Amino acid sequence: MIKNLIILKIGGSVVTDKKNDNEKINRKNLKRISQEIARARNEKNFALVIVHGVGPFGHKLAKKFNLHKGYSNNSQIAALSEIYSSLRKLNTEVESCLKEQKINTVSFKQSSAWLLENKRLVHADLSIIKRYLDFDIVPILHGDVLMDTKLGFSVLSGDQIVTYLAKKLNAQKVIIGTDVDGVFSNDPKLEKDVRLIKTFSVKNKKDLNLTGSTATDVTGGMKGKIGELIELSKLGIESEIINIVKPNILKRSLCGHRGLGTIIKSN
Ligand code: ADP
Repeated sequence: MIKNLIILKIGGSVVTDKKNDNEKINRKNLKRISQEIARARNEKNFALVIVHGVGPFGHKLAKKFNLHKGYSNNSQIAALSEIYSSLRKLNTEVESCLKEQKINTVSFKQSSAWLLENKRLVHADLSIIKRYLDFDIVPILHGDVLMDTKLGFSVLSGDQIVTYLAKKLNAQKVIIGTDVDGVFSNDPKLEKDVRLIKTFSVKNKKDLNLTGSTATDVTGGMKGKIGELIELSKLGIESEIINIVKPNILKRSLCGHRGLGTIIKSN
């Protein structure tokens, strides 16, 4: 068992230019986030796994060639191969920004080691990740396209990785960093009159208008996230969705502050 483990998701909306659908890395956000992680780790002792979203580096090709729906025709194969190069580019940048702040990291490729069955993870060995955590090295994972026993291949969202790791590694805390302040009564990018939900449980799911993302996203945006996090809350693991585009929120959350966004809990 790993003590004080935090699983941090850095959303695609934060590390890329997701809203303009450009394969552009947001280095300014990445640098500040890496600095906040480094400061938090200097102040507090915790083990950390980072999962980053991929924005247009994954979703654009996945959507164009329906990679998330599984194999349908041979025109998808070249796109599948190309998407891996694109994801690697983004992942390398994320890793180097963290290393610049003297955070020791190791990148994992789920596509070469894990397996899906009908879009859900069925084979994912975590023993090596655990060993890296023993040395206080931060494993980095990301949304990916995986072989799928039923569909040929399909997409594994960063949000599904987060819940899987949190469950299997018994995480103490799950932080979902995105570009809005939390879960609102309606999409804050589309509606003006919205209310922030400070605590969210299965009970109030029906009161909300949860949609996907305003950007190209094949994994369900906020709706997909909540679905995953509710499953996690049923196992007694609480998570919080926070806005990490705003300075200092991430650092405070890593240092143990609660109530900075929306807490997802079982009841
Ligand atoms: P990320 O790329 O950071 O993982 P997503 O784009 O998948 O984030 O999901 C976050 C987006 O979900 C927000 O930018 C927002 O536009 C959208 N969204 C839809 N419905 C809601 C809601 N009820 N509350 C908050 N955000 C919502």
